[in-house]
Amino acid sequence: MQSKAKLLLSITLLMLTLSVATVVNMSLNFREYSIKTATQKAETIADIVKDGLTAHMVNGIMDKRAYFLNQLTHNQEIESIRIVRSQNVIKQYGDGLFHEQAKDNIDKQVLETGKMQRDIIEDKGKVLLRLTIPYITEDSLQSPSCLSCHDVKVGDVLGAISMEFDITSLRTDTVSTIIKIMSITLVFVLLALVVINYFITPYMSLFKDLQYGIKKAYRGDFTYEFHTSVHGEPKEFIDKLNILFRKMQEAFGDIKNDLGTFIPNNTSSRSKDPLYEAKTIIKELSDIYKFKKTIELDRSKNIVYSRLVTVLEHKYNIKHFAFYELNNITLHRKLIYITDGEPICSSAANNDSTLCRAHRTKTDVISTEFENLCQACEVKEVDYVCIPFSINKDHSLVISMTAKHTDDLNRIKSLIPSIKHYLDAAQPVIESNILMDKLRDTSLRDAMTGLYNRRFLEEFIDQVMKQVQREKETYTVLMLDVDFFKQVNDTYGHDVGDRVIKEIGTVVKNSIRESDLGIRYGGEEFVVLLHNATDEGAMHVAKKIHSSFAELVFDVGNGQTMQKTMSIGIAKYPTDGNTIWKCIKYADTALYVAKTTGRNKIVRYTPEMSDDDTLR
Ligand code: GH3
Ligand code: MG
Ligand code: MG
Repeated sequence: MQSKAKLLLSITLLMLTLSVATVVNMSLNFREYSIKTATQKAETIADIVKDGLTAHMVNGIMDKRAYFLNQLTHNQEIESIRIVRSQNVIKQYGDGLFHEQAKDNIDKQVLETGKMQRDIIEDKGKVLLRLTIPYITEDSLQSPSCLSCHDVKVGDVLGAISMEFDITSLRTDTVSTIIKIMSITLVFVLLALVVINYFITPYMSLFKDLQYGIKKAYRGDFTYEFHTSVHGEPKEFIDKLNILFRKMQEAFGDIKNDLGTFIPNNTSSRSKDPLYEAKTIIKELSDIYKFKKTIELDRSKNIVYSRLVTVLEHKYNIKHFAFYELNNITLHRKLIYITDGEPICSSAANNDSTLCRAHRTKTDVISTEFENLCQACEVKEVDYVCIPFSINKDHSLVISMTAKHTDDLNRIKSLIPSIKHYLDAAQPVIESNILMDKLRDTSLRDAMTGLYNRRFLEEFIDQVMKQVQREKETYTVLMLDVDFFKQVNDTYGHDVGDRVIKEIGTVVKNSIRESDLGIRYGGEEFVVLLHNATDEGAMHVAKKIHSSFAELVFDVGNGQTMQKTMSIGIAKYPTDGNTIWKCIKYADTALYVAKTTGRNKIVRYTPEMSDDDTLR
């Protein structure tokens, strides 16, 4: 039932109940009042009859009493009047007239008890109030006393008077009063309902409007505009509510779009309620942010892998999965982690990763898409989902997950975008860790000095630079070369020459930080790459290497010693050149300038040096 109908019905019922209660109360009081009035009248008549009969007795005209009593019945309301003699009076004066003996139990009871009795008698559509009042012997000092004529004691019942009053009109009066009151009430109720309806209807439609708009808002749609025909405070309220809704809609749209750029096509958090969706996305973003912050400080890719495993196991509650790392060059696959339970993928794919369909096709493999979709899969009678993910051109990951039930499979499918967000977050960290692992590789190091060798520079400097470009970092290139080194070899032999080269390695290592790179470029030439150094900082390091080397005293045998100097050329990436190779070349140009202008000095590259034909 509609709220309005309910309200009107309640009001009607309330008013009707109130009027019925009033009518009942009134009619009861009315009846009580009428009976009381009749009783008083009867008592008065009883006194009159008593006095009349006494007078008849004193005057010796007792035989005329019927006439007297008959006269009294002329009163319209008195239906009948009768005198009843007690046994005492009968004993003294005889039975009297026929109707003066006790007629029924009521008469007898009143004579016996001496108490007035009141009865309502319904007879052929008539309603009679019968009042039977006893006459009790009183010890009256006044004359005439009852005792003077009657042979009785004080307190004895002499007789009774029985009167019947017609109160039929009382009932009809009551009924007509009830009808009148009810009619007035009904008219009043109808009028009240019309008035209430008139005033309530706009509020009810406002309420309906609010209900509808808020229902939409609950689903995150704040586009609804409220209307009301009620002026004053409700109108003000609706205007403010409309402003609030417009603001919410704008803010919501912005939030949704902004979040959408962070996590596009986030099907796992798709919900009909954008508020809930926004909350889920923010929670996801916050979790991924925390994950990213954590892994950035991890020192190896294996720790990052273990964190991904933790996410799959504990955050996404995936019961059975395997996590693989694949080498795109050697086509080898390494199992990083597998949960308890049967193997998911054939071990044949460990030596030929192209057997892995997800890895080969670079697309998600979901077993329900086609029967026996991946030939390498070993699980029976369960579904599987395999996600490939590329770390760099050499390395990829594959996560294979199984699902026993359709619900579980659907849940895993819905988690794919979220899992990929974690992989996206982990990718740069894994990539740089792989690079760091390679940098630790001995084949890239110069055995004599322990510094990186030229192969390192040729193979990995581009990858290092990719990261540098991404993070908008700088590298300052120092190109070092010993002055007149040939003379050392020529004068003291190659062993002394080798010692000098070794010492340069030590000087370089002691002068640079961990994030810097020291490379033996060839012979007695070295390249030092200073990470994010200021110009002053770079010059400071160059001077330190330059002076430390100059201070070294080499024992060349026969009690003789030797000291050497070096020249250094400096260029900065990306200030001087847009590739590291150009900057190495510019540092070499600056070194050449140092050599041709007297050696034993540090020269900072300037573009004019490249313009000088003699320096090219
Ligand atoms: P400049 O001041 O112009 O540099 O004169 P320089 O004599 O040092 O000339 P340059 O740099 O061209 O000399 C390179 C020499 O370094 C040539 C080679 O004999 C020597 N050399 C290269 N590699 C090694 C090595 O591993 N051990 C030793 N002992 N000598 C090396
Ligand atoms: Mg030299
Ligand atoms: Mg040289």
